[in-house]
Amino acid sequence: MRHALALVLASVLTAVVIASVWFWTATPRLQLAAPSTVAAPLAERFAAATPAKPLAARDDVEVTSAIPAKSPAAPKAVCANPDALGVSRVVVVDTTGGPGFGFEHFKQLDFLTDKEVVLTFDDGPWPGNTPAVLKALDDECTKAVFFSIGKHATYHPEILRQVAAAGHTVGAHTWSHANLNTKKMTPQLAKDEIEKGFSAVKLALGADPAPFFRFPELQHGPAAVAYLGTRNIAMFSCDLDSFDFRAKNPEQIINTVMTKLDKQGKGIILMHDFQKHTAKALPALLRRLKAGGYKVVQMKAKAPLQTLPEYDEALMKDMKVPVASTRPVSSVVQTVSE
Ligand SMILES: [Zn+2]
Repeated sequence: MRHALALVLASVLTAVVIASVWFWTATPRLQLAAPSTVAAPLAERFAAATPAKPLAARDDVEVTSAIPAKSPAAPKAVCANPDALGVSRVVVVDTTGGPGFGFEHFKQLDFLTDKEVVLTFDDGPWPGNTPAVLKALDDECTKAVFFSIGKHATYHPEILRQVAAAGHTVGAHTWSHANLNTKKMTPQLAKDEIEKGFSAVKLALGADPAPFFRFPELQHGPAAVAYLGTRNIAMFSCDLDSFDFRAKNPEQIINTVMTKLDKQGKGIILMHDFQKHTAKALPALLRRLKAGGYKVVQMKAKAPLQTLPEYDEALMKDMKVPVASTRPVSSVVQTVSE
């Protein structure tokens, strides 16, 4: 009996030893195997995301490594219109010192070549008309610069966001469309109009605007010009005024622009996305530009404008935008009875 017990004990001991040896030798193998098990389905998932055509082993590696690099970048828009006006070139403007554009007032920077135009739109964003302008531009896969009125940006921020989302450049056109070249316009008031306008555009966009500015009524007072220079904001006049705000119908706008363009050969065109006739004229006008051999140049800013925090804050206060509290919940709401 005692012998039998010793035998059982010995068998149990042997079993334990064998199990331990197996465990300590097998475990590292299991751990090594684990990452490759996870990696295999991952690789298969990447492979599944690539085109269905069979790929050689080396192609597989290249495609897989390209996926993370591609995903953060915005997909390049493909133009559905094969005969679109399009954009012939994109220029980036270094706004240091406040360069002036548009030969009506600023004659230093002649960057357009023959048959090149820049499309610019003032006074928006506005319901109906601005979205119609955006659609006309989109149908022709072309881009423009929009000079928004600050007040209008606060009325219709969602429309201004559509303008930016469509890839157009968004600058400002003062807070309230004030003439900055009158006797009543002090340097301080001019600064307020300029800065509040840019802060309103920023608030609407949720992003920094381009440091591009157009004077209301193209009235550039010397104090305002000097101030914009210190803020490194580019000033825009125009080469060619469509006078769309006083046109009696869309046809009149098209005729004015095409007649002036055919005479001048190129230029920055001033229009208003705020105006109904402009929105209606635009599809045909863009077709006429294409037929006339004109090419659209898109102007972008090298760097966005840093708005002044005091104007951002004053505007938020004016707009009664609730200021987010940074206090923890426990200090704001306390349970006093359960
Ligand atoms: Zn205007």
